[in-house]
Amino acid sequence: MALTANSSSPMPLQEGSGNKLAILGGKPVRTGPFPSWPKIGDNEEKAWMAVLRKKEWCRLGVTPSYVTNLEEAWKKMTGAEYCLATASGTTALFTCLNALEIGPGDEVLVPPYTFVATINVVFLQHALPIFVDTDRDTFQMDSRKIEAAVTPQTRCILPVHMGGSAADMDTILAVGEKHKLAVLEDACQAHLAEWRNRKLGTLGDLGCFSFQASKNANCGEGGAILSNNLALIERCMSFHNNGRAPKEGYKFAYIVNGSNHRMTEFQGALFLEQVTRLEEQSRTREQNAAYLNKLLREIPGITPARMYDGCTRNAWHVFMLRYDKNHFAGLPRSRFLAALEAEGISNMAGYSPLNKEAFIKATLDSRSYKRIYSSKELAAYEERNHCPENDKLCEEAVFFYQAMFLGTKQDMDQIAEAIRKIQKQAPELLSRS
Ligand SMILES: *Cc1c(COP(=O)(O)O)cnc(C)c1O
Repeated sequence: MALTANSSSPMPLQEGSGNKLAILGGKPVRTGPFPSWPKIGDNEEKAWMAVLRKKEWCRLGVTPSYVTNLEEAWKKMTGAEYCLATASGTTALFTCLNALEIGPGDEVLVPPYTFVATINVVFLQHALPIFVDTDRDTFQMDSRKIEAAVTPQTRCILPVHMGGSAADMDTILAVGEKHKLAVLEDACQAHLAEWRNRKLGTLGDLGCFSFQASKNANCGEGGAILSNNLALIERCMSFHNNGRAPKEGYKFAYIVNGSNHRMTEFQGALFLEQVTRLEEQSRTREQNAAYLNKLLREIPGITPARMYDGCTRNAWHVFMLRYDKNHFAGLPRSRFLAALEAEGISNMAGYSPLNKEAFIKATLDSRSYKRIYSSKELAAYEERNHCPENDKLCEEAVFFYQAMFLGTKQDMDQIAEAIRKIQKQAPELLSRS
């Protein structure tokens, strides 16, 4: 397997022992840490203590409420008409599926390349997540394959804006409209990202966000639902507040079956401080990611995820790329990632193929699924569950985490430099494995 020498490299590697790969005992490209996450200041501490001392830790019946202010702030930042804060991104999705009355026998179109919560919530409704294969170029649900997956049982399309880039919303909304399917956007990674200059999470019937610790806007755990549909958001409000009528607070009267997925005042207060940094942090990520994109596109065998033309803004929750070992002397991805880590460049291998995870089989084999679906239906489901493109992608993907993009251009140069260094010495590294 030929190593493609990167002769056009703007930063030629110097010869000599100083350039030995760090994983083989050489000096790493980078010794310092990447920017830490999250960022905090005095205001976070003040806000937290203010909630503590106010002794109103749950928003029900409280005015003014931090959680209500969070909803107002998120509405303003996204342009949505309605917002409901929740305890997490998972519970936001769960609440939406309940508001949409997705239940046993229903099919929900999902991507296999996502965080597991997207799939878990569909199974929690005793519905069937139908996996639409991934477009390896973009890492998003392949919109060319959505319509073929629609059956009379299909109720909803649940696209994920993977990495903070956008799924192909033009096609998704068109297929949704044509087949009268709800569109629920999983925008849990896509804070402030856009499709044709509209914020992700505001294009479908409902859109969900996560404010969990790793996410671009964070209060430890938390989430939000956006909608422009009053009836739908009111159903969400009821469901997330034990089935009370919308905005009913502590009243002991219940109009629907529900659960408790309320956000605490602590989360609300912390988020309101954190979110003041979001726009500026997002711009920094965008600048650095665009620069890294340019650098990495010049390295043979490294293919950053393409953005659809309609994606006018990317949240860069993760920078996603494909690694082709054929351009690295056949060096397996795991060795490449370990060598990169040793050079001081943090990285992740991305997701495993969710549609093949053990929990799916276990769910289909469960007592309740066997009561709801005939063995013929369950066999047919397993027959449909193949995503060959996604399987390939899961073996090629490399992620760089959002906080790495909060620093300088020089940080980006070092990422590219480390990759080129490994590429150049891949044959030697392989022979030592
Ligand atoms: C983080 C995430 C979720 C779940 O959010 P939590 O707040 O952790 O419950 C759902 N979907 C995607 C795509 C995510 O990245």
